[in-house]
Amino acid sequence: MSAQNRPARKIAVEEAFSIPAHMDELKRAADAYTGTEDGDLLLAKRQTGGGEMTKSLLDLDGRRLELMDEAGIDLALLLITAPGVQAFSSQDGVRIARQVNDTMAELVSRHPTRFAALAAVAPQAAAEAAKEIERAMTTLGMKGVVINSHTNGEYLSEEKYWPLLEAAEAHDAPIYIHPRSPIPDMAKAYLPDNLSHAIYGFQAETGLHGLRLITGGIFDRFPKLQIVLGHAGEGLPFWLDRIDYMYAKPRGRRVLKHRPSDYFMNNFSVTTSGMNWHAQIRYLIEKLGSDHVMFAADYPYQIMLEEVAQLDSAPIGDADRENIYCRTAERVFKL
Ligand code: MN
Repeated sequence: MSAQNRPARKIAVEEAFSIPAHMDELKRAADAYTGTEDGDLLLAKRQTGGGEMTKSLLDLDGRRLELMDEAGIDLALLLITAPGVQAFSSQDGVRIARQVNDTMAELVSRHPTRFAALAAVAPQAAAEAAKEIERAMTTLGMKGVVINSHTNGEYLSEEKYWPLLEAAEAHDAPIYIHPRSPIPDMAKAYLPDNLSHAIYGFQAETGLHGLRLITGGIFDRFPKLQIVLGHAGEGLPFWLDRIDYMYAKPRGRRVLKHRPSDYFMNNFSVTTSGMNWHAQIRYLIEKLGSDHVMFAADYPYQIMLEEVAQLDSAPIGDADRENIYCRTAERVFKL
């Protein structure tokens, strides 16, 4: 990429952080856990142990800003690291989500050109989550919501979560469905060879969640709702044609107004977090169009410089690179 066709801005949209109140509660839950199946709490034992990852997650505008400068990332869209507040009780989840959002609003007000943020909410308290979405989008100036896939083994297609979807639609808040480990009913299958996390389990869990929203008729009920999926759309873009083909057969599935892929094209956009490989980027552009694709570095789980270098060197047109680096995110998240 030559100097003259550098994109207007480089925006990274899936950048994780924590705050002490969240880290402490997650550490308490992880330390108390003696089982072998909860992939999130097992991972949290490492992430909350006080090492480099703990420090990187808690650093908001120190080293993080230096790394962004080194990588040429202008703006980071921050989200609470997985599993957010979804492993906590309703009461703790609601309380800590508010603290997270207040801290983020303050950080963004100090660095308005470098940071924007997605709101943390506790889906296990759906009515409170709906209120927090309203507060985050109106008073706090946030750009959407992050939900870390399942909540107590359930997906957002369940009716009890609809108040939250209704609030997101009403306040124009895209919901970033970020991965966490597979639901408890599936957890055992991922334990051999430690497959619960980013190597495969995250994607299988979160792709299924996205599909369940479509097949659950959520977008017939909430037609303006916008969902963002990371990791190249958690595999779904590769499956859309087969899903349409199979959905057309009478197999006892719900009657939808449109084909599954139509909802994906109208109600979803995807990011390149952890998937900035050239073949994957080119496929996303061909299948979805670059106006549905956004760059993410997935810091601190991936290395900013490496992710930027991959997209910079991708054999794609400058207009597509501009869309992926900034134009799509500017539209989807109003940045
Ligand atoms: Mn991530």
